[in-house]
Amino acid sequence: MRKSRKLFALCLAAFMALALLAGCGDEPAKGSGTSNAAVDKSSRPKDVQAVVDRGVLRVGVKNVTKGFGYQDPATGEFSGLEVDLANKIAEHLGVKAEFTPVTAATRTALLDSGDIDCVLATFTITDERKKSWDFTTPYYTDHVGVLVQNSSGIKTLADLKGKTVGVSSGSTSAKALVEAMVKAGVIPAESYDAKTFDPATWTSGIKFKQYDDYPAISTALSAGEVDAFCVDKSILAIYNTGDRSYIKEEFAPQNYGIATKKDSGFSKVCDDLVQGWLKDNTIKTLIQKNGLDK
Ligand code: GLU
Repeated sequence: MRKSRKLFALCLAAFMALALLAGCGDEPAKGSGTSNAAVDKSSRPKDVQAVVDRGVLRVGVKNVTKGFGYQDPATGEFSGLEVDLANKIAEHLGVKAEFTPVTAATRTALLDSGDIDCVLATFTITDERKKSWDFTTPYYTDHVGVLVQNSSGIKTLADLKGKTVGVSSGSTSAKALVEAMVKAGVIPAESYDAKTFDPATWTSGIKFKQYDDYPAISTALSAGEVDAFCVDKSILAIYNTGDRSYIKEEFAPQNYGIATKKDSGFSKVCDDLVQGWLKDNTIKTLIQKNGLDK
């Protein structure tokens, strides 16, 4: 009896020593809130160390997409889910986040040039894009929609036949719309080839005009320069004023991921963090906080 108690005490002591040792060990990017202090400097990839040394994480975000990335014109303050996530990544590294407004047309050039360390800007993960940049596990899924003036009478994908649609340069929108129209039988499948599709030259059943940013498309819609405005519904939301409506269909799920330079050490840090925040509901809470769950 006494012997077994002694053995138990010994085992307990050994277990506690092991647990203590494990506690000192370092699991950099896992879990939700591991702070900078917990990150082992010697194991940090060079590019991550460069951010830490700089003391600033440079992030590309949208500045007109309420709920995701929005800059208050009066205060200059950034807010939204993607701003919150960027601040949390910066906090994990023990640095400050600095925001650069980006559009669908500018975000990848700024990442390639090293002006920004990552993009959190309603950036849809696609196989094509994965060839050039790393993406984290998705933190949000949206769908593409089409916004029209009520006076146009356009209500469905079929009604868009022969119309001109405003899209953003460098976005997935035109391709998603043509694919949805092919699927719905509005555009003949034979005329579509995903590999060669180019919104600038597409004329089968629908035409596109490309713009540098979303406010310009909204203005073009009001002016009758385009018959419809097509992009992710999260982006369309603030342009859906009383005299406008969505067409019936929404299509093409858009998974948003954080984009980083291909094969960079920072890619893994971001993905580990996102996975941890998905698991512990941090992302769910931030989605709710930013009103994106409605
Ligand atoms: N999410 C879409 C894309 O990545 C729409 C464009 C945008 O994010 O501005 O292409």
